[in-house]
Amino acid sequence: MSVNRHSVAVVHSSTAYPAVRRVIEALNPFAELPPAAHVVLKPNLVVSRSAWLGANTRPEIVEALVALLRDHGIRRITIADGSGMGESATRAFQICGYHEIAAKYNLDLLDIERDRFVSVPTRVDGPFAQLSVSRTVAECDYLINVPVIKAHCQTRMTCSLKNLKGVLPSKLKSGFHGTDLERAIAQLAATVTPEFILADGTYGDLTSELGGSPVNLGVIAAGYDPLAIDCFAAATLGFAPSAIAHLAHYAQLRGVDLDRFRPQVRALNHPRGERRFRAEQNSFRLYPCSVHLGSACSTCHGNLLFALKRLKEARRLGRRDRYYLGRFSDRELDSSTAPSGFRERRGGHDARGRDTPGRGARGGRTVAVGDCAVRLFGAGAAEAAGSGRAASDSPRSCGPAVVAVSGCPPSAAEIVTAVTAAD
Ligand code: SF4
Repeated sequence: MSVNRHSVAVVHSSTAYPAVRRVIEALNPFAELPPAAHVVLKPNLVVSRSAWLGANTRPEIVEALVALLRDHGIRRITIADGSGMGESATRAFQICGYHEIAAKYNLDLLDIERDRFVSVPTRVDGPFAQLSVSRTVAECDYLINVPVIKAHCQTRMTCSLKNLKGVLPSKLKSGFHGTDLERAIAQLAATVTPEFILADGTYGDLTSELGGSPVNLGVIAAGYDPLAIDCFAAATLGFAPSAIAHLAHYAQLRGVDLDRFRPQVRALNHPRGERRFRAEQNSFRLYPCSVHLGSACSTCHGNLLFALKRLKEARRLGRRDRYYLGRFSDRELDSSTAPSGFRERRGGHDARGRDTPGRGARGGRTVAVGDCAVRLFGAGAAEAAGSGRAASDSPRSCGPAVVAVSGCPPSAAEIVTAVTAAD
C-alpha cells in the first residue's frame, strides 16, 4: 500500500486483533519507535456504566495495539483517559475490562482526572491562549489516539479531534462548553497532536456519544492525519465534513480547503461476514420508509442506518420509499412481480404495512444500496450507480426509477447524497 501522511487505512472487520494488525502492518507506524519510548494510548472512555458499547473504545482494540507494541519491544505503555463529566475513567477501566489488559501486559492505567496538568500555549486562533493538559500525555514520547466513530448530540459527530478533550482537567472540559465549543475543539486538536490514530468503528452510535443505540459497523480506520481520519468518520456517519463545525475550524487553522480535501482512503479488504438482520431486532423500524434486507455485511447495514437517520433529520424520507440492501437468494427473487424483481423478505417490514414492491407499489422511490443490491436491479441500475442519475430502464425495473448507490460499501454520506440528488 502506498502511504502518505493523509492516507487512511481501513479494515472491514469487528475482530479486533487481526484487523488492528492489518492496519499496523500496512502503515508501519512503530518502525522508528525505540524500545525505551513511553507510549500513551488514549481511548475514549466517556461513560462508566455497563451499557458502554457504541460509546467507549472496545478494550479488544486497545489490547490488540498493546500486543503489537509489545511485539515491537516497547516496554513502557500507559492507557490514559479522563471520562465525561459525572463519569469516571477509574470505573470505566473496571467495567470495560481494562484491568485485565493491564495485568496481562503489566502496563499502567491512568485516570487523567488524577494526573498532574501542565499549561501548554495554543499558538493558534481560538478561545484559549493556553490549555491545561495531562502531564503524562504532554510528556510522553508517542501518543496514540484511539477514538470511537460515533454521533454526538452537540457537535453532530465525534472522532479523533474531539476525543482529545479527555486529556483536559474536568474544570476545563466544562469550560469548553461555556465558550465556542467547536473552535475550542479545533484549537485543542492543533495543540495536542497524537503521533498516530486508530479509530474504532466496530460499533458506532446513531444518535449520541453516550451510547444506547450501538450499531455494528465493523470498521477500523487508522492513519497519521486527524483531519483525514475525521473526514472518513464523518462520511461513515452520513455527514459532509464541511457540515461539522470543528472539522471546518480545524481545517482552517491548517490552511486546508475542506471542500477540496480528499484524503486517500485505502480499504485493505472487502466487507465480509454477511449476516441476516432480523427486522424485529433492528432499528430500521424507526424510519418512515420500508427497508428490505437481504444478506448484508454489517458495514453496509450500519451505513444505511446512519444515512436514514440523516435523511429523516432532513425530512427526505417518504413512507412509500423502499430501500434494498444486500444479496437475496433466488428463492427471494420473484421475477413475476418486478419492478423490484424480488419480493419483500419474509419477516422484513414496512413500518406502516403498506406499499411493498411486488404488490403493485406506486410512488415513492426505490433505492438500491451497495453493489449487491444495485446488481439485483440489473444493468440499467448498475450503469446509473455513481452517475448521480436514477435508472428507469433496468430490465428488472418496470416501475418507479431506481436510485442506485454503488460502493462496497457505500458510505452513509454517499447514500444521503444520492438520495438527495435524486429528488
Ligand atoms: S455491497 Fe459490499 S458491503 Fe454491501 S452487502 Fe454487498 S458485499 Fe457487503
